[in-house]
Amino acid sequence: MMMRVAVIGAGAAGLCAARHILARPKVFARPVVFELIDRVGGTWCYEEEVGVYDSGRPVHSSMYRDLRTNLPKEVMMFPDFPFDPELSSFMSHQEVQKYLEKYCQSHSIGPHIRFNTAVEKVQPVTDLQEGGATVTSWRVTSSHVSGLQKTETFDAVFVCAGHYSDPHIPDIPGIQHFKGTVLHSHSYKFPEAFAGQSIVVLGAKASGLDISMELAKVGCQVTLSHRGPRLTFPLPPGINESSTMVSIQEDGSVLFQDGSVGVADVLIFCTGYNFKYPFLDSAELGVDIQQHVMSPLYRYMMPPAFPSLFFIGVCKLICPFPNFNCQVQFALAVLDGTVPLPSRVQMEKEVRQEEQEKLDQGVEHRHLMVIQRHQWDYCQMLARAAGFPPLPPVVRSLYEEVWRQRRIDPDGYRQHNYRLVSATQWEMI
Ligand code: FAD
Repeated sequence: MMMRVAVIGAGAAGLCAARHILARPKVFARPVVFELIDRVGGTWCYEEEVGVYDSGRPVHSSMYRDLRTNLPKEVMMFPDFPFDPELSSFMSHQEVQKYLEKYCQSHSIGPHIRFNTAVEKVQPVTDLQEGGATVTSWRVTSSHVSGLQKTETFDAVFVCAGHYSDPHIPDIPGIQHFKGTVLHSHSYKFPEAFAGQSIVVLGAKASGLDISMELAKVGCQVTLSHRGPRLTFPLPPGINESSTMVSIQEDGSVLFQDGSVGVADVLIFCTGYNFKYPFLDSAELGVDIQQHVMSPLYRYMMPPAFPSLFFIGVCKLICPFPNFNCQVQFALAVLDGTVPLPSRVQMEKEVRQEEQEKLDQGVEHRHLMVIQRHQWDYCQMLARAAGFPPLPPVVRSLYEEVWRQRRIDPDGYRQHNYRLVSATQWEMI
């Protein structure tokens, strides 16, 4: 009997899962892809609306209007599906969304997507077989925007629901005293709305930096407040770096860690996102889902107790599309039996050991899902185990070069264009 797989989400990860499932018709039935909204692309579907749609469902995308990718198309692409060569290396969100539409069309995924359909519940059902073995299937309950609800059974589930939607807002003592506007980068769309105002941006990662630079260009006075070490590059005029914000004082002013005090019209939290899967019961799965960490997940994908449920794309600081492509192929190799798994106990032990090693090396608990410089070994290990081609070395070398450029010139690094020369070489053009 062919395996039935449910895929939750038609963003890059869900499309990638569907593409590889469809490529294995002898083992897998055609997938059912559930998608909340009426288009593919997930976070790349820019929405000017904030909050909730008329249907009452929350806006998923965290894109802002003028965003350009922070990776060049030469490494951002799925390794087997290049972007249009006419595009410049750093693209608009519209160009990425069109690419994902094209990917969907080229692999004939569209007919398998149920748009406007939210997955509401995913439950494992364990059956005892003859001889004492157990088999898990999954009951997936979804509801169409019209209200029609359905429950179906699948052999495996790919959770591709993204994790840049539920804003993480740290507790700031006294925040109720702030007299201006408070928002999270999830709801930031364009800078003109804030022209000329004084703004504290909290967080200096990709979004914090980009948004600060956008705001400075429309005459805002930006205080870029963060807890990391001092930035190593010069900031454009209009942006001042400051230590992290510790509280809001009774008069509405902002107190920073170094003791300085500032006043601001707007406070923008660029403080990241929480993992949130309202359709899962984490206790039932044996996985602790916290704001920034899910554990234990074997190979950053599977709950050891239920290795037919796969979270795709939950590692942080990765080259996303190539990473999804490796994870999906590994997951399918687990399902078709190519990759044998250790026992549940052994998988849990391995995950705990890996986590402990990271903690011993000084990694903060909330950064346990960050794999950054280990991502290449990780993808290589998945490829070796499942027998698919590893990522070409040029992906790593260009990715690392762009990171280096970003650290030197966060405002200008996107002006460059690149070309892949071979599997090992790239050039700037
Ligand atoms: P998403 O794109 O979030 O897709 C998840 C999908 O699941 C959505 O369509 C959603 O509607 C659907 N869904 C969620 N819950 C349910 C449910 N219960 N039922 C049914 N459907 C559901 N990556 C890069 O490679 N380059 C960049 O330059 C880059 N810039 C970024 C900038 C921003 C501001 C953000 C937020 C992210 C950026 N990323 C970038 C990372 C980006 O998130 C990934 O590249 C990738 O698009 C994530 O794909 P995904 O499929 O995992 O999640």
